[in-house]
Amino acid sequence: MIPPIASKFVAGETSAEALEHARTLNDRDVTAILNLLGEHYDDPAGAAADTDAYLALIDDIGGSDVDACISVKPSQIGLDVGEDVFEDNLTEIADRGAEQDVFVWVDMEDYTTTDATLDAYEDLVRRHEGGMGVCLQANLKRTREDLERLADAPGKVRIVKGAYDEPESVAYTDKERVDEVYRELIEYMFESFDDGVAVGSHDPEFVSLARELHEEHGTPYEIQMLMGVRTDAQYELAADGVDVYQYIPYGGKWFSYFYRRVRERKENALFALRAILN
Ligand code: FAD
Repeated sequence: MIPPIASKFVAGETSAEALEHARTLNDRDVTAILNLLGEHYDDPAGAAADTDAYLALIDDIGGSDVDACISVKPSQIGLDVGEDVFEDNLTEIADRGAEQDVFVWVDMEDYTTTDATLDAYEDLVRRHEGGMGVCLQANLKRTREDLERLADAPGKVRIVKGAYDEPESVAYTDKERVDEVYRELIEYMFESFDDGVAVGSHDPEFVSLARELHEEHGTPYEIQMLMGVRTDAQYELAADGVDVYQYIPYGGKWFSYFYRRVRERKENALFALRAILN
């Protein structure tokens, strides 16, 4: 069982707990993005097991009244084993998502995986004429070109600052520069992505920017934030009519995810300490 201190950031160990959390969010007009924790399997069995878990999750969402989609990490479904394994597993997930009308997001991992992830994603999203989305990272120097490539493809792009420490040869490593590029890319997306823009950020500056650009261009948009981060802001935006999505991790591999959240911010560490002392 997940200890109470981790349950701020992780919905539980089982899909039933994650769906229950999703239901409470739906009551506040927030849509759920469910992510089974797991990454970097180097054996096909691990990748196959998580692919099966995602197929079952899609069936559960499809058979319920919960407003939820899923988000999958490429290395969780076989990219470290081989591109063909990843493509096969993602195809199964995308096909089942289409059958059950459940939207499938593909997370983006470090820069060595971008080409394989985008190739598999683009092929599937064009074949299904939508129903899928992919994450792109502002810290990578290539991202403007990747956005141009996807601007006329069906599907959605979630634009984020980028979570991986990448080498300077391929990435902007200065935080201010990343913020500057993030702004430029969001502006480009509101001008060029008629079907909508997904901004994955907790940063008030970019949430406001998305609202302003929506008013200027009329482009639909959504704000995506993580479970346990700026929850009040998520509810306030949703109450204000903004499409808000909460990314909800769950599963047995919760410890390293929880530890990452605690380490990345002083407030999160204090929260964990208070929970231990109480
Ligand atoms: P930061 O640059 O971390 O912070 C900017 C400001 O935001 C802060 O000054 C503060 O005002 C506010 N803020 C940030 N965190 C908090 C907090 N905990 N509490 C209160 N205020 C806060 N990265 C990938 O590389 N691949 C992915 O597939 C991916 N998917 C993501 C999906 C979602 C839904 C989200 C939200 C992020 C995802 N990321 C992904 C992570 C992303 O790349 C960033 O690393 C992460 O979101 C931190 O950047 P930020 O824009 O939220 O703000």
